[in-house]
Formats: sequence, C-alpha cells, structure tokens
Amino acid sequence: MARREREIGPGEVTCLACGWVSYAVTRAEAESEVARMRAYLATLSAEDRRGWSEEGPSVEKYVCRSCGGNTFRPALPEDCPDGATTNPVIWQP
Ligand SMILES: [Zn+2]
Repeated sequence: MARREREIGPGEVTCLACGWVSYAVTRAEAESEVARMRAYLATLSAEDRRGWSEEGPSVEKYVCRSCGGNTFRPALPEDCPDGATTNPVIWQP
C-alpha cells in the first residue's frame, strides 16, 4: 500500500535556505492582516495584551520561522511532514 502523501495547499512554499514549509501571502495580504491584528490588540486591556511582544504584529515577521529567510519555492508533497503547522511568509513567485 502506497504511503499517502500529505496534500500541499496551493499557497505552500519551502524555504530555500533551510527547507521549512510556510505558506505564501502577498505583501498586501500581510499588511491588511497586520492592520487587523493591531486594531484587535488596541481593543484589549494591558493585561490581555501580555504575551504579545512589545512591537506587536509586523510584516517584518512574515519570514521563515525557522531561519528568518525570505526566499522560497513552491512546496513539494515530500517537503511537508504530516501535521506540521505553517506560518505565513511574504513571497510571490
Ligand atoms: Zn528557512
């Protein structure tokens, strides 16, 4: 019986530097998400904001979670281990 490969989502990409799989978003998508998060955080009390870093959400964080790289290629099924969580990165082919 063939091993079933995990399906790769259309936006998933692999870091060229370290092989970590993330999913790609455009800069515009990242900026709107950051703006949405900032607006949400602004509604929280100082207490509830604990756990968020001082500078808050930022498009600068849309890079490889493993190595901080920002060059990617489309992911292949064998790149992505089952159950891996992916984080968004800014990348456009
Ligand atoms: Zn990386």
